[in-house]
Amino acid sequence: MPLHLEVITPEQRVYEDDVDMVIAPGSEGYLGILPHHAPLLTALGPGEFRVKKGGVEETLAVFGGFMDVRGDRVVVLTDAAEPAEEIDAERARQARERAEETLAQAATLSAADEARARAALQRALVRIRVSERRRRRPT
Ligand code: ATP
Repeated sequence: MPLHLEVITPEQRVYEDDVDMVIAPGSEGYLGILPHHAPLLTALGPGEFRVKKGGVEETLAVFGGFMDVRGDRVVVLTDAAEPAEEIDAERARQARERAEETLAQAATLSAADEARARAALQRALVRIRVSERRRRRPT
């Protein structure tokens, strides 16, 4: 019995399929979910959401949200989930560079601007990791 996974954002159903395993960026660390997992409701942090199916692995970048595991059904509700193949690695590297340049002047930044730059840096790092994982994967 596989897991039935749905990843839903306000705009669309990003992913829906029967899968073998999910590795999710829980707010307290990464969590592996196999069929027959105990019921679980957890917040997600920014990170790599990995989906394994038939020996193939797909990765989505997620930036928060919630995951509900009930029976063999996994529902992820999140503001944004980006499949690896939709991520522009060069754009993410430029975003990382901009955020790092901003943070290098932390002493002159307001707390709000610093928090914004840190969040932008975190998004960029997740996107870079997800796009690199895709490149490493044998096709
Ligand atoms: P940037 O500074 O490059 O715009 P950002 O982190 O500020 O990045 P977001 O506000 O998180 O961007 O996202 C705005 C929109 O741009 C979203 O639809 C998001 O999916 C898309 N997006 C952001 N970065 C990338 C990327 N590297 N590749 C593909 N789409 C991206």
